[in-house]
Amino acid sequence: MQRHDDQEIIDALVNFAVHAGATKARRLPPASVRVEDRLADFCREPKCPYYGQSMSCPPHVSGPAGIRKLLQSCKHALVIRIEIQSASLHGADRPTVMRLLHEITAEVETEAKRHGFSRSIGFAGGSCKESFCAKHPNCRVLAEHGECRHPRHARTSMSGYGVNVGELTKSAGWSNRLFSPDDEGEQLAWVAGLVLVC
Ligand code: SF4
Repeated sequence: MQRHDDQEIIDALVNFAVHAGATKARRLPPASVRVEDRLADFCREPKCPYYGQSMSCPPHVSGPAGIRKLLQSCKHALVIRIEIQSASLHGADRPTVMRLLHEITAEVETEAKRHGFSRSIGFAGGSCKESFCAKHPNCRVLAEHGECRHPRHARTSMSGYGVNVGELTKSAGWSNRLFSPDDEGEQLAWVAGLVLVC
C-alpha cells in the first residue's frame, strides 16, 4: 500500500492501538525519545533475572547505540500505554499483562507496516521469556538456534535499549501517578510500549 497522508495514518494507528486494548496512544517526534546508557546498564547490574535469558534481552540486543540509530531514521514514534489496577501488575497477573503489552505493540507494528512503513519496529516491556516462554527451560533462539516460538507477538523490551520510559510517557502528556476515579482513589499502574514508525 502506498503512503499518503502521514497524519491520517498516525491517527489510524492510534485508533488501532486503542481498539487492540491500549488505554491510550500518542505520536511523538523520535528525537523526543530519551535514551540513557545507565538505564540499559541496570539489566546487567543489579542483574535482572531475565538478563541473557532471551534473544530479546541484553546482551543479545543492540542496546542504546542501536536504538539511537533507529530513532534517527524513523519519522514517528508511537507511545502506547495500558493503565490497570496495581494489584494486576504487581501480582500473579503480571505475565498476562506484560504479554498483552507485547501483543498490542506487535499488532501496531504490523499495522504500521501494512500502511507502508515497512521498517517499523515495536518495543514492549518486560522479558518475553517471562511472558511467553516461562514453561520452557530456554529461549529456543538461543538454545537451539531455532525460530522464536512467538514471532508474531513477542517483542524486545525497551529496558535493554535504555529508553527512559517515565520520560517517554510524560512527553506524551500523561501523568505517571494515576488514580482510579471510581474506586475510592485507588492508585493505578501502567505499562508502556513504543513503535518506531519508519
Ligand atoms: S523463543 Fe521465547 S524467549 Fe526466545 S525470543 Fe521467542 S518468545 Fe522470547
